[in-house]
Amino acid sequence: MENSQELINVNDLQLDFRHELSAMINGKSLLNCIQCGVCSSGCTVSEWMDLQPHLVVSSLLLGMKERILSSRAIWMCSICHRCTERCPKSVDYSFLLTLLRNLAIEEGHAPPEYTADLENVFSAGFALPLHGSMFKSVNRRRERNGLPELAPADVESIRSIIQVTGLDRCMNKGDEQSNVE
Ligand code: SF4
Ligand code: SF4
Repeated sequence: MENSQELINVNDLQLDFRHELSAMINGKSLLNCIQCGVCSSGCTVSEWMDLQPHLVVSSLLLGMKERILSSRAIWMCSICHRCTERCPKSVDYSFLLTLLRNLAIEEGHAPPEYTADLENVFSAGFALPLHGSMFKSVNRRRERNGLPELAPADVESIRSIIQVTGLDRCMNKGDEQSNVE
């Protein structure tokens, strides 16, 4: 995505996306960006991103919605808020990423590792498949550390919470084409 030789078809741009985002809570700050690059230069994890923070912002301003929602950059961020604190134009980038993650999930771009955890919680009440020998092994370690036996999960209540909060819409919607590794 950082390849400057790449051609973009103008018909693929969603030019109103910046307005869609700026109408959301704290989204308006996006329009203040002057592309100074301070956010990228201070980002703690930018070397693992497929697109630097200032380029995510410029891509959003240009209407490259699909590319950003399917990018690795929005999921690699640790939400440390450093970019937001340092931005000279008060662009709330770390909060924008939260909006983008929500939109990405809504549109079926959730990375499979996130949806897999959710599906584990929905089916068994734990993020890890704790059953059989794994369950016994965990309890042995808990006993060694003076902890009580792991209580069984209240799966029905957990499923109700997942359904009431709408999280179930994310399940089985992982983006097989996601760039997240
Ligand atoms: S620091 Fe702020 S103004 Fe500068 S590129 Fe990043 S978001 Fe834009
Ligand atoms: S909040 Fe995310 S994008 Fe901003 S500096 Fe931290 S890791 Fe980088």
